[in-house]
Amino acid sequence: MFKLKFDENRCLTCPDGDCLVKCQYMDFDRNSAREEMVKIYRGEDSPVLQNCVTCYSCEEYCRRGKHPFYLINERREDKGILTAPRAITRQWIHIGEPKGKVQLGEIGKIALSFGFMPQLKDIAKGKLFEDVLPSWFFGQEFFCNVVYIHFANTKIFKERLPVVIENIRKLGVEEVIFLHDECYAAFTSLAPAYGMEIPFKTVHYFEYLYNRLTALKDLIRPLNMKVAYQRPCSNRLCGDSYLYVPKIMDLIGVTLMPRTYQDENALCCGSIFRAMYGYDLMKDVQTRNLDDMQQSGAEACIFNCHGCMNALSALVASRGIKPLHMIDLCRMAIGEKPDMES
Ligand code: SF4
Ligand code: SF4
Repeated sequence: MFKLKFDENRCLTCPDGDCLVKCQYMDFDRNSAREEMVKIYRGEDSPVLQNCVTCYSCEEYCRRGKHPFYLINERREDKGILTAPRAITRQWIHIGEPKGKVQLGEIGKIALSFGFMPQLKDIAKGKLFEDVLPSWFFGQEFFCNVVYIHFANTKIFKERLPVVIENIRKLGVEEVIFLHDECYAAFTSLAPAYGMEIPFKTVHYFEYLYNRLTALKDLIRPLNMKVAYQRPCSNRLCGDSYLYVPKIMDLIGVTLMPRTYQDENALCCGSIFRAMYGYDLMKDVQTRNLDDMQQSGAEACIFNCHGCMNALSALVASRGIKPLHMIDLCRMAIGEKPDMES
């Protein structure tokens, strides 16, 4: 069985304890943060195990390459501390269960992964993707299973992720461009943290979009838009990809409006909170986030994840802010008219 690589000495000598000091849902100072992480590592009780809302942010806050949230998750599972009612957890686990069916395009050496997000099949169109399509794959057999770490469950991805890696390897691809942020995080953060090897090159679609837009720069007409960007929880596991957001915006003449809940302070869409911690937490997080977008003067909210888009599209629209996926925004910049129902 795969085990999380974690070195308590790194926490004992940590200069800042940023994992918990920066946590937006609990209050710890530098010393108590370090102490709690060491207690958690040693299997002792900690309020963190009860109160963590699984926002994933401490995975980014820790600059020492440790995996504080993955450790919290392991210890919750060891102690049987549930984050959601059993029925909800079972329902989610059932959704991602492999069914022995795959959906494939004409697979080449480079392929697009749509993971298990059907909306991605409709949104990846036009000149931006013409050098890769029709090489794509989709379905439960390629589903990253990262979502179960919201449910204090490591067992499922330890079983399923190696099978998913093997399913992709058997396609014979050398490089995979992941259109689902969370899938990219599975192969670049979760798998390496547990010692799983990845036999293909992984590319986040933000990097791909940036490179394609650069190649197609003669087609770009600056959009002159003011926008807010909605950062999903999964992006905390793959912060390297986030660096492409301002680069893409610069390239297409879009201004990211300064606001309180952006970059490291971003708030997630809140949808997972409702199932696990109740309506009030979801409402609080969504209201603060939407107020902040509105006050920034953004005319559009740019989404990365369709989970966030499902949760927030109607709410941002009710504030007079247009919901747009990053791919649609980039297509608009090269003169294409995307179907906005995505
Ligand atoms: S997990 Fe990272 S930030 Fe937190 S105490 Fe350990 S080394 Fe420091
Ligand atoms: S996952 Fe979020 S809520 Fe949980 S400890 Fe980390 S930063 Fe805090």
